[in-house]
Amino acid sequence: MSTKYVYTFGDGKAEGKADMKNLLGGKGANLAEMNLIGVPVPAGFTITTEVCTLYNQEGRDAVVKLIENDVKAGIEATEKLMNAKFGSKGEAFPLLVSVRSGARVSMPGMMDTVLNLGMNDDAVKIVAEKSGNARFAWDSYRRFVQMYGDVVMGVAAGKGEHNPFEVEIDKLKAEKNITNDTDFTAEDLQELVRRFKLVVKTKTGKDFPTCPWEQLWGAICAVFDSWMTERAVLYRQLNQIPEEWGTAVNVQAMVYGNMGNNSATGVAFTRDAATGEDIFNGEYLINAQGEDVVAGIRTPQEITIEGSRRWAKMQNVSEADRVAKYPSLEEAMPEAYAELNAVQEKLENYFHDMQDLEFTIQDGKLWMLQTRNGKRTGAAMVKMAVDMLKQGMIDEHTALLRQEANKLDELLHPVFNKEALKNAHVITKGLPASPGAACGRVVFFADEAEEWKNRGEKVILVRLETSPEDLRGMNVSEGILTARGGMTSHAAVVARGMGKCCVSGAGEIIVDYAKRHFNVNGTIVKEGDWLSLNGSTGEVYLGKVATEDATLNEDFTTIMNLAEKYTRMHVRTNADTPKDARKAREFGAKGVGLCRTEHMFFEGNRIDAMREMILSDTVEGRRDALNKILPMQRGDFEGILEAMNGLGVTIRLLDPPLHEFTPNEPASQQYMAQKLDMPVERIKEKVDALHEFNPMLGHRGCRLGITYPEITEMQARAIIEAACNLKLRGLDPRPEIMVPLVGSVKELQQQAGIIRRVADQVFEEKGVKVNYLVGTMIEIPRAAITADQIAEVAEFFSFGTNDLTQMTFGFSRDDAGKFLPDYIKKGILKTDPFAVLDQEGVGRLVEMGVKLGRQTNENLKVGICGEHGGEPSSVIFCDKMGMNYVSCSPFRVPIARLASAQAAIMHAKK
Ligand code: PEP
Ligand code: MG
Repeated sequence: MSTKYVYTFGDGKAEGKADMKNLLGGKGANLAEMNLIGVPVPAGFTITTEVCTLYNQEGRDAVVKLIENDVKAGIEATEKLMNAKFGSKGEAFPLLVSVRSGARVSMPGMMDTVLNLGMNDDAVKIVAEKSGNARFAWDSYRRFVQMYGDVVMGVAAGKGEHNPFEVEIDKLKAEKNITNDTDFTAEDLQELVRRFKLVVKTKTGKDFPTCPWEQLWGAICAVFDSWMTERAVLYRQLNQIPEEWGTAVNVQAMVYGNMGNNSATGVAFTRDAATGEDIFNGEYLINAQGEDVVAGIRTPQEITIEGSRRWAKMQNVSEADRVAKYPSLEEAMPEAYAELNAVQEKLENYFHDMQDLEFTIQDGKLWMLQTRNGKRTGAAMVKMAVDMLKQGMIDEHTALLRQEANKLDELLHPVFNKEALKNAHVITKGLPASPGAACGRVVFFADEAEEWKNRGEKVILVRLETSPEDLRGMNVSEGILTARGGMTSHAAVVARGMGKCCVSGAGEIIVDYAKRHFNVNGTIVKEGDWLSLNGSTGEVYLGKVATEDATLNEDFTTIMNLAEKYTRMHVRTNADTPKDARKAREFGAKGVGLCRTEHMFFEGNRIDAMREMILSDTVEGRRDALNKILPMQRGDFEGILEAMNGLGVTIRLLDPPLHEFTPNEPASQQYMAQKLDMPVERIKEKVDALHEFNPMLGHRGCRLGITYPEITEMQARAIIEAACNLKLRGLDPRPEIMVPLVGSVKELQQQAGIIRRVADQVFEEKGVKVNYLVGTMIEIPRAAITADQIAEVAEFFSFGTNDLTQMTFGFSRDDAGKFLPDYIKKGILKTDPFAVLDQEGVGRLVEMGVKLGRQTNENLKVGICGEHGGEPSSVIFCDKMGMNYVSCSPFRVPIARLASAQAAIMHAKK
């Protein structure tokens, strides 16, 4: 059977269904499903994602030829159901269609919608005549030229310029002395069509296409082209969406929200996407079409009375004004509202998740144009899952699997300090589009936001409104402030998806891009000025407002408790101080997976003793210096072991190359010369002698302990003495001593020998014993390959995937930043392997290491302590490998706990 490339839907029937997202994209699959469950949807068809892949491989001509007949058949089927004719010459009402992209998951970086396709000088006359509404016909035509010109033909505004079509609209408004789009007459709109076509000709050198078929193929191919645009590629990178997925194309009969005052269009959410509250909400506009609501040009109105009142309060609009000028849909079109309310309930119950809906009311009749699982903030994600669990809508597994682990991060981030807020200077208020506390310096352009960020600045991106081109700049900003747009504007939706703080629709601010400032009631805020945004209230403050740690709410605890119930791996933390260890324990860490002892040497004047040791020529000299360090280390270890009382604490012996500690500056060399009573030349010589060409592969890790055993002796003593002291105080310390950078079992044997000898000495001195383990990092490929031998000595393995990645790829950890972006851009790597574990390569070594290690010792405890231990996809991989724990920085502990529980559920299901 030949492959099916086009799937039709309409009038309660559909060739596709909801579980065909891979083939039909999210939008297409759900349009089909809505038809099947009796929700009113205009007829149309979906071209599959497979065609997109073929398009990228074989090009436009081959693909057009391949699907030409299917698309013709799709249009014919739509014509029949809608009783209209594509390219009508007067024999029937013209069929106009929308053309929209639709990947498996929604991608705001992709092509926008083209509406009213099929419009031309013939169609507009027939539409005017048959609908008896010339204004509507010309309004549809001018929208089509504008959208097609923008999206398909690439007519765009230059930096700092206004959209050239909007410029024409503003000009004509000024000429006609009107303020609202809705005040244009049919003749005005006809004039706009003429001017828009001229804009297209001037900007592109091409005539605007009049043949509907030419328009249709132009739009279909533009959707496929949009899959590879820079912004789509960027969005995929940010969200780890594979290029192979491709996008579907949805071609659907138009229904018209701009047919008059009994028509409208809007977007809605079945629950609040910012807070998670179980409240139906959304925005709409009367006598408008699709993009008007999100474009931020007209002020959208709220759908429900409740939402409308809340909005009015925030905007300081009186109840009388609200009712007169901005009534809710519930008030303005009660019947259509009642139907919409029933549909939203039906869809949420059907899909068991919060739905993001698009609808149009044409002459009083409701049509649904889209339903999808809505994007939401981290807080909303947690609250919705807990509420739906309580409401019996989903089960515990679903509640856990539905969490995007990384998004929990948003709940852990600082909030404004309440006292500081009392004194903060509020300069204006917008809509609380995406919660959070953001503080940064004002910039007006997305590309400059990136430049500032690269210089180490924190920025707030201020725009009239945002568009998909701004994605990259939004991503690097602390927060986003827009003058226009509602809760469903591009800025609001994208910011919520990114978990960024956003205040939208702050109508009082007047942005002047050319002068690089904005004016708010007379206060001028310039580029570079500090600004703070409160995404939970919509307040905008001048200057910096202090922040504090967030307090975790009950819903968060519920999700964490659920994670605890299902997890197989424990989560430990990488902590070098008692404070970090305590914080991590609050977040549910079950021990320390990595304490990097070298960090302790930098505190205060400890570095002096360390330098004294390095610079010393004799064993005695080094011992003397180490004796000064010993009590300090012991104190640190006592603190950490106490914070993790009753839980394992893995303490790693000194790891970095010694020259990281050497005094390199003349002033510090002078200081050490005096302190050690040595000529400064001698110090310089010593520093030069310690210099290495490739320190990462040089004298570091266990190699230090092998050449200077007294370092290992001192550290082992400090750890065991700390543990004995705690034991004598009645506590339960559980130290695990870890030898770094082992490549051969003999290295470990040698170091373990020293540790055990020192431990026995200390036990005898103290008259008390503690249980302790001696294990190793597996971070050199040779260690993974010979793990069966290493497990003869090691009591535990901890995969150091930072070094293991470095040495498996041969990419320097310190220098890879120079070329990795190109690797990712050119598709050689999908993600940065230092952030996301390379399962294909490094993962194989991990697998081999675990298998060989457990072959020797089936109870071998295995964990990971590289940065990957807090990255969800890597955590899931670790569970598959059968690890006992992952370890990560304190603030990533909840994320890793969640990912670990998800992994346990996913892997148990298989
Ligand atoms: C590692 O290499 O993965 C590791 C945890 O050690 P470090 O980052 O300190 O080299
Ligand atoms: Mg390492």
